[in-house]
Amino acid sequence: MAGRSYSRSFLYPDSYHLYVYYQSPYGSRFQGLRGLPNYGLSCCVNALLQSFSATQELLALLNRWIENDSGALEKARNVPQQLQKALQAMQSDRFLPNPHQSFLYCLDRNHIPMSVQHDADEVFISILNLIQEQMSDTELAQQIKCLYMVKLEEHLQCNECTYIQSGDTYMLSLPLPLSQGSNTLEDCFRAFFELQELDNEERCFCDRCGEKTPSKQGLKLIYLPSVVCVHLKRFHYDHGRTEKMHCEVSFPQALDFNTILKPEQVSQSSKQSRSEWQYKLYAVIVHCGTAMFGHYTAYIKPDGDIWYHANDSRVSQMTWADVEGTFGGSKGGDTAYMLLYRRTKEETEPDGRRNIGERNSRTEFSPNQQRK
Ligand SMILES: [Zn+2]
Repeated sequence: MAGRSYSRSFLYPDSYHLYVYYQSPYGSRFQGLRGLPNYGLSCCVNALLQSFSATQELLALLNRWIENDSGALEKARNVPQQLQKALQAMQSDRFLPNPHQSFLYCLDRNHIPMSVQHDADEVFISILNLIQEQMSDTELAQQIKCLYMVKLEEHLQCNECTYIQSGDTYMLSLPLPLSQGSNTLEDCFRAFFELQELDNEERCFCDRCGEKTPSKQGLKLIYLPSVVCVHLKRFHYDHGRTEKMHCEVSFPQALDFNTILKPEQVSQSSKQSRSEWQYKLYAVIVHCGTAMFGHYTAYIKPDGDIWYHANDSRVSQMTWADVEGTFGGSKGGDTAYMLLYRRTKEETEPDGRRNIGERNSRTEFSPNQQRK
């Protein structure tokens, strides 16, 4: 795709050009990608919007939605509607100085205030839950959620009587534990699916023993969605303050869950074809700085093989080596915080039809079911 430039034509007054150059030394739109000015500490939402705009599956679903004619205030408060508007403005050739402004005000009205540094993973999950709550087309809202919904079986085995309690759960992003030093993403996934020993204050109530007992807790995979969102748990509370782990986490461009999961980590109720467990990285939300003073940017690969870096209003072309620069390992440098992987093979229904967004989801869920 050729780079677009805004000529000094009759379309835009000169003041707009000055604004563009002031905000963005590389131009407001680069290779079809729109930079987003930092509007009231919006770097976190900016980075998320860039990742949403690189998720064609989401754009296709959102663009299908025709909202009922509601009042102006209701429209201004409606997250899916303002997200649709912001993403369409980002794709459009028509220049708007702040295509995401209404969306930021809309989040503000939905308890995601402006001028506050947010946690990108929390905002990501909140936006998806707000879409689910506020979209008038409930079937479409369900399909959007299913795009990201990893289904898991939680099980808890009592160490005293071996009684197993289990239930299905889902996650919109997978919170992967990190260890100090060097990590590979595959090892973080293995640690996530490893059995955890729960004892002392963490003891759970066993129905059969009738008391709190030590136990083993684990997760088994039921279903991987079209988009797998990974949350690298770099932030944790320590003595009343948030600390950041700057450790190295290397991640691949191609990810095959067949090489990660042991057979016993897959639920017996999983009916998904193992050939659908292959993924390609297409977006990285990066956090730089410390827990107290940080900034978010995004690397995205919207189509084809070219990586771009969106740092608020600046968008520039990058290479995979630049993305590898976000593995971390040094204090204060850029560190990948969220990774978005897209399934490489379209899932098929038994009759061979393509099934986008998993229309016939088996699992019913409530918005509060998201596990942190
Ligand atoms: Zn027991």
